[in-house]
Amino acid sequence: MATVSAARQGARVLVVETSGCFGGAGTTSMVAQWLGFYNGETCAVGGLPMEFAERVIARGGSNGFENYVLAEATVRPLHLKRLPFNPEIVKLVADELVLESGASALVHARICGASRDDDRVTGVQIETSGGRLNVGASCFIDATGDAVVARHAGAPLADVQAGRHRMGMSLVFRLSHVDVARFRALSRQEKRAIALEGMATGELFWDVLSVSPVGTSDAICLMSHLDGLDNLDPNDLTRAEFIGRYQVSRIASFLKRRMPGFAACELAGIASHVGVRESVRLVGDYLLTEQDVVGATPFEDAVALGCGPLDVHEEDGKLRLFMPAQPFEIPARSMTCISVRNLVVTGRAISATREANGAIRHQATAMALGQAAGHLAAHAGAYGWDVRALPHGTVQKSLTAAGALPSRGHLPPATAVS
Ligand SMILES: Cc1cc2nc3c(=O)[nH]c(=O)nc-3n(C[C@H](O)[C@H](O)[C@H](O)COP(=O)(O)OP(=O)(O)OC[C@H]3O[C@@H](n4cnc5c(N)ncnc54)[C@H](O)[C@@H]3O)c2cc1C
Repeated sequence: MATVSAARQGARVLVVETSGCFGGAGTTSMVAQWLGFYNGETCAVGGLPMEFAERVIARGGSNGFENYVLAEATVRPLHLKRLPFNPEIVKLVADELVLESGASALVHARICGASRDDDRVTGVQIETSGGRLNVGASCFIDATGDAVVARHAGAPLADVQAGRHRMGMSLVFRLSHVDVARFRALSRQEKRAIALEGMATGELFWDVLSVSPVGTSDAICLMSHLDGLDNLDPNDLTRAEFIGRYQVSRIASFLKRRMPGFAACELAGIASHVGVRESVRLVGDYLLTEQDVVGATPFEDAVALGCGPLDVHEEDGKLRLFMPAQPFEIPARSMTCISVRNLVVTGRAISATREANGAIRHQATAMALGQAAGHLAAHAGAYGWDVRALPHGTVQKSLTAAGALPSRGHLPPATAVS
């Protein structure tokens, strides 16, 4: 999103991606349902993310938004709207968007360092198939989820200490030959009973039986649960992939044997990267809090709207899951920091408390932030490449012109007040 957004605003952009495709966790980790477009019946994300969603639907990659019960088999289910999608189609549409935007791209290219001069990042080091590259730029957007550029540039970060509890990772997998309709017709009680049975036999690893359909016969299953591991520790990350695949094999056998609709299922794919919910975050010019989320604090420099849900996986494995009463504003200051003036951090690594992070980490919110990051970076040139110097009005105006909804005041009139 940030790439396309900045390029459409006239910036010369290079996007560097460590995997082979774009789309982030939605493609590489097969997190195949977009949450965060809607808060209740209010659609609070427009602009480029909505264009992306519409193009995925038009390509047959999704049937569109649907009502859904999140964490249905747990004690705390939540009704919301989601957009389930086929990650392979998302890869195709993401390619089109990037290529059409005129941005340059490097995939299979991993940022592994950053150079800094005083309060500026001057370049990043990138490991590529052809060796190490040094790339300089006037402005940098860190959309890595793990604050990779910010970390290498020495920006202040929260929750860096090793051993800190992080929300569990999950390795997502895809089963073919599933009677998805039959599974969906089960009552919540039936699903919960089977989930508890699987946990008792050690074949399921938590009671979330999340299934995202692809067509009528494929199920993308988000059911593995890897707690107590830190993706920034290389040994933990390796363990997560190995244990994750072990869990996938146990879960798939259990579903085939026990879950209505899964008797003929085949393992069709395992995500190429374990899904990471939480790592480090920027300590920015503003720290977004749970109070800001729940109370929908108004910000003069709002650049995106979050919808929720607030979804925090606690240390004891329990979910803290609820929908804020209304869409909430996210300020540009949660994406910038005083010590590195030409850096914008976007996505799940923005400056937020752990609880607020639980509400902003959904993909539609990450995409809305990505669009905002593109505008911040593209327009910073007129202000000495100091993203903190941009007048609020400039960014909000350009975002609005691009169809985005940067603040609650930009919602359609009927939904502008709760
Ligand atoms: C198991 C799981 C289930 C989830 N369920 C949902 C859900 O149902 N719906 C929903 O909307 N959200 C869900 N989320 C949350 C959501 O997927 C993430 O919070 C969101 O994708 C974060 O977006 P991001 O752009 O910040 O990071 P990411 O989507 O992780 O994108 C970061 C990108 O940066 C790349 N990158 C990382 N490091 C480097 C580097 N060093 N060099 C170059 N490139 C790099 C990555 O390859 C990736 O493409 C879930 C997350 C997980 C892990």
